[in-house]
Amino acid sequence: MKIALVTGGSRGIGRATAILLAQQGYAVGVNYLSNATAAQSVVDDIAKMGGKAIALQADIADEAQVVAMFARLGDELGPLTALVNNAGILFQQSTIENLSAERINKVLSTNVTGYFLCCREAVKIMSHRHGGKGGAIVNVSSAGARLGSPGEYVDYAASKGAVDTLTTGLSLEVAAYGIRVNGVRPGCIYTEIHASGGEAGRVDRLKTHLPMQRGGQPEEVAQAIFWLLSDSASYVTGSFIELSGGK
Ligand code: NAP
Repeated sequence: MKIALVTGGSRGIGRATAILLAQQGYAVGVNYLSNATAAQSVVDDIAKMGGKAIALQADIADEAQVVAMFARLGDELGPLTALVNNAGILFQQSTIENLSAERINKVLSTNVTGYFLCCREAVKIMSHRHGGKGGAIVNVSSAGARLGSPGEYVDYAASKGAVDTLTTGLSLEVAAYGIRVNGVRPGCIYTEIHASGGEAGRVDRLKTHLPMQRGGQPEEVAQAIFWLLSDSASYVTGSFIELSGGK
């Protein structure tokens, strides 16, 4: 049985990924931070399709909560075979003059420490070194890791740069132990994250500047994540797929 954990699976890209993975036969742990209604609606949609999913509340930035989440997932669904590190945050668009240490540390603790903690727990379950059967991890980064998000959220972009380095380093560290680690870099995708930056309509503002002249849908990102997790990508590790309409 394929068993996946999608962090931030309640909304946006995580929601689309959880549903696609369930359609493809995975039992899915749908992690969320606070929106229990949204997480339950993903679980209900999957149940209606005849799939299996559970909602898992946990703050990925909190070590004890991450450990408890992985334990619950193992108890209720079985040993993890796929991790999608997707939960991410950003704050109000701003230049560096207004970035506080508190804000920067909050971004880093969720977008970087949270990804590390979930990778750590997944490796303990999947690695041949620990008697595991192997597996795959996809880290959701951002085109911002390449572009830097000037004037919007350089702190967020830098956190995604760290995610890319985590992906590269971990892919090499666990390649011999049956685990593949890859990344996706979405660009402008229609989700609610842009409202957190104070501009709900950001994708529509930027889309004409993109070579493909449109924003992306969460389902288009989910397809790439699904492929990277699948056996079709069995010789792919340490790689990144750009989902940014050409920019
Ligand atoms: P979104 O719609 O804002 O959803 C964020 C998800 O993350 C929600 O499920 C939320 O849970 C969860 N979450 C936030 N903080 C969490 C925490 N500390 N612990 C556990 N879960 C947490 O975001 P999205 O646009 O789908 O983004 C998903 C990923 O794609 C992020 O890593 C983001 O950086 C990346 N990305 C997005 C875009 C884009 O244009 N949308 C572009 C590039 C990269 P609740 O529902 O409980 O709040």
